[in-house]
Amino acid sequence: MAQVIYGSEVSKDIRTQLSEQMEALRGAGARMPKLAVILVGNNPASLSYVTGKEKACAQVGMESELIRLPEATTQDELMAVVRRLNEDPAVDGILCQLPLPRGLDSAQVIREIRPDKDVDGFHPINVGKLHLKEDGFVPCTPLGCMELLHRMGVNPSGKRAVVLGRSNLVGAPVARLLLNENATVTICHSKTENLPQVCAEADILIAAVGRAKMVTAEYVKEGAAVIDVGINRNEQGKLVGDVDFASVEPKAGFITPVPKGVGPMTITMLLKNTLKAYRQHEGE
Ligand code: NDP
Repeated sequence: MAQVIYGSEVSKDIRTQLSEQMEALRGAGARMPKLAVILVGNNPASLSYVTGKEKACAQVGMESELIRLPEATTQDELMAVVRRLNEDPAVDGILCQLPLPRGLDSAQVIREIRPDKDVDGFHPINVGKLHLKEDGFVPCTPLGCMELLHRMGVNPSGKRAVVLGRSNLVGAPVARLLLNENATVTICHSKTENLPQVCAEADILIAAVGRAKMVTAEYVKEGAAVIDVGINRNEQGKLVGDVDFASVEPKAGFITPVPKGVGPMTITMLLKNTLKAYRQHEGE
């Protein structure tokens, strides 16, 4: 039976530490770290994500500002908001909630965010730094996966790691993080042949495909560490991962559940990135 590693618990621990760090700053009369979140339009999922981010900031005592812009916002208006936040010395982290309404160019917006405030880690400078093994900002979900792996006590060095999915948001950066920690990494995608056999060679298997319960026991090596990034809704509207938990749990060594797995880690890593930006801005 696999040991189940709950991101919700790990997240709680990290947020407690962050709260203590915030308290120390407040006690010292220091400027507080601040995250600015831009939300354009009324997409309900995006609204719930940004609300979650604001709540998390409040929970640990970090400042946040939500800038809500109407659906009809133009590219120039949006770019002007980013530039204002870039220049605001009270703001440490900026993120623009994606997807943007049709007609707005998210790549252009991401490029406009100052790399030292790009706490989502999507700016090409930060993407480049990750690949050069330089210190920059790394996307939050991949960071959360690595944190969970470390909490499992799994050292990627020398291990076979398979990442299912190659998106810029999850698959590609998590693969790079694993490589940077000396794993031997294979990246799989929709064109990969013999997928179950390739995955079954992995000591570390990260599933980030967006296909409900696709990863069954035949994809998993006995004793492997399995991290399930997927967030899917089944026919009953229930949240399920990319991993078929019931069939994989008896075979894996470690496994993360959905919900309460990678999901809660993502926002926690955003808070950590914002504190990191703050410390850099304060010259610490
Ligand atoms: P994308 O749709 O951008 O990428 C999916 C990847 O999976 C692609 O590389 C695609 O291959 C590959 N893929 C799709 N179907 C198959 C298949 N049948 N066999 C093999 N590979 C396949 O998704 P994201 O990376 O953005 O997200 C992945 C999952 O993670 C989603 O469920 C998403 O909801 C979840 N997620 C969870 C987060 C969290 O906080 N827990 C945060 C972000 C995402 P190809 O490149 O060839 O198309």
